[in-house]
Amino acid sequence: MTFGGICMEKIVRGIHHFQTSQFEAHSELFKNLSAGQSPDTLMITCSDSRIALSLILQIQPGELFVLRNAGNIIPPFGAGRGGEGATIEFAIKALGVSHVVVMGHSHCGAMKGLLHPEDLSEMPLIRDWLEHASATREVLKECYSDLDGQDLLNASIKENVLVQLDNMRTYPVVAAKLAKGELTLHGWIYEIESGSILAFDPDMARFAPLTPQKFPAAIASRYANDIRIGVSNGGSTAGSVTSQELSGD
Ligand SMILES: [Zn+2]
Repeated sequence: MTFGGICMEKIVRGIHHFQTSQFEAHSELFKNLSAGQSPDTLMITCSDSRIALSLILQIQPGELFVLRNAGNIIPPFGAGRGGEGATIEFAIKALGVSHVVVMGHSHCGAMKGLLHPEDLSEMPLIRDWLEHASATREVLKECYSDLDGQDLLNASIKENVLVQLDNMRTYPVVAAKLAKGELTLHGWIYEIESGSILAFDPDMARFAPLTPQKFPAAIASRYANDIRIGVSNGGSTAGSVTSQELSGD
């Protein structure tokens, strides 16, 4: 049984509807977007078809720069010259995004593959790709050996978001922007069945529901007032960011 599966005819009808109805209604927006883009946030999430970012985040075209792959994985810097590094570099250097969100999701097939590599014998490319999440597998072995089934899968989804945030910090451009106070990293989980988004809160050391009043930074800029260690008493700014900071106003 397929849920939500559509045929190509439906996709083509959707294109026609967009061009004849939606485009005209938003023609001014698209005219402005033809001049360029200036998103403030890079979203890195899974390729899973159940994650509809425009719907979940209620965003307009031009508001979000997106990187998607199996398992919302970020190969560590130096692990290869792939598209992930190029996308991150462009988002931070060229677009100047000030927030990066790594968002995993419930029922992630890539994380199931990570837990059961024996099932991937016919899919060697996925098996190799998931090696970029081998740290997640080791964390699970060390810290969650008492779990199995759905509980272990849920733990893998959360731990993988944190591992990939660590991988983000291996990029020189990310480390520099964090140090300079111009970048904030967020770790989120999207729950398909509830529509909820959980955000990692380093103060509580757990994922908690995201609300308009509280959306913690997983890794905030290092220094509030000064970018060099020992120059002032600037301390860690890890914690919640304000809605103004998130919107970039
Ligand atoms: Zn997934």
